[in-house]
Amino acid sequence: MTNPILPGATLGVLGSGQLGRMFAIAARRLGYRIHVYSPDRDTPCGQVADMEYSAPYEDYEQLEQFARSVSVVTFEFENVPSAITELIGRHTLVRPSGAVLNISQHRLREKGTLQQHGLPVPGFRAVRSAVDLEAALSELGRPAILKTASSGYDGKGQLRIDSQSAADAWAALNTDEAILEALVDFECEVSVIGARSPSGEFAYYGPLRNSHAHHILDVTTCPAGLSPQLEQRAIEVARSLFEALDVVGVLCVEMFVTRNGEILINELAPRPHNSGHLTIDSHVTCQFEQQVRAICDLPLGSTQQKRPAAMANLLGDVWSKGEPQWGSMLKMNDIKLHLYGKTEARVGRKMGHLTVLGESTEAAERAVRAARQVLRGE
Ligand code: AMP
Repeated sequence: MTNPILPGATLGVLGSGQLGRMFAIAARRLGYRIHVYSPDRDTPCGQVADMEYSAPYEDYEQLEQFARSVSVVTFEFENVPSAITELIGRHTLVRPSGAVLNISQHRLREKGTLQQHGLPVPGFRAVRSAVDLEAALSELGRPAILKTASSGYDGKGQLRIDSQSAADAWAALNTDEAILEALVDFECEVSVIGARSPSGEFAYYGPLRNSHAHHILDVTTCPAGLSPQLEQRAIEVARSLFEALDVVGVLCVEMFVTRNGEILINELAPRPHNSGHLTIDSHVTCQFEQQVRAICDLPLGSTQQKRPAAMANLLGDVWSKGEPQWGSMLKMNDIKLHLYGKTEARVGRKMGHLTVLGESTEAAERAVRAARQVLRGE
């Protein structure tokens, strides 16, 4: 701890969704003030912040004012142009750094950097034309996954290539820069969420086991139930990555566990992650409090887990038959409900989540899935 930012100070967050909201709640509990910046108004984070700047990301005057009003800026949304982090960095601290953001914003840069540092990634090739794609497919084989180099998330901007021609696949993706990845035959998907302070102290959550529905995270359980060797390997991969990229703040490493027992990194998110939401209820220090501690250069909190836990996302779909059955669900009195303050429930939109602790991860997962069914009136 060299130059800590102490409670009472004002912290800035770029992006105003649920990750910012849960960060702000943790920060306020610790006695900090929160300023949030995004183009929107009455946002999940703005509703619980001390001040909400609602202006375009290109409004440099407003951004400068925002930067001057806070002791440090962190992110809940990482796809901001690097010019913004540079501008903010002229006035205040930016954690994680613009360099880390820049790597995670671009899949080719991300995989290339990880590979350079000797970290395990699936086979991949850069693709900038149908001709490149043809060559890459003959090297990596089929099936393979073609992804836009930037701005893809939750399975958007990606295409599985089985038997279609390279020309058709390239036309369908409709981009000028992409990455082709070998299809990983995975046993499961896990994440390790790490936190590192400027003094180099490191803490982690997980591995957390993640299952997806329609490419969106659906349920997370922790412990993940991997062998002790695989757990250690996943944690060591995350730790090495933090050191190699000199990450300060919180970052999630999403990984595949392959059927032959390898850990391969899928992608990075330089912020708290949906798979870490259960830590609010299940761990001594949650990922959001840890983000506060890490960016403020305070000692990191204990990441000890209290009991096995499961988290289920509540997407807009849960509202498809009208208002969810809150009363019936809340009668299951060990379920923790988190809602993000969003008024419009669109299909696929993350509206909230449920967490439950249990005797085992299996019991917790059964309970959290049952609670979600009750909400849907099923
Ligand atoms: P991404 O947007 O890269 O996180 O990908 C979304 C989902 O697609 C992942 O969570 C995986 O289920 C699947 N996926 C992505 N890349 C691969 C790959 N190389 N091999 C197998 N499945 C993948």
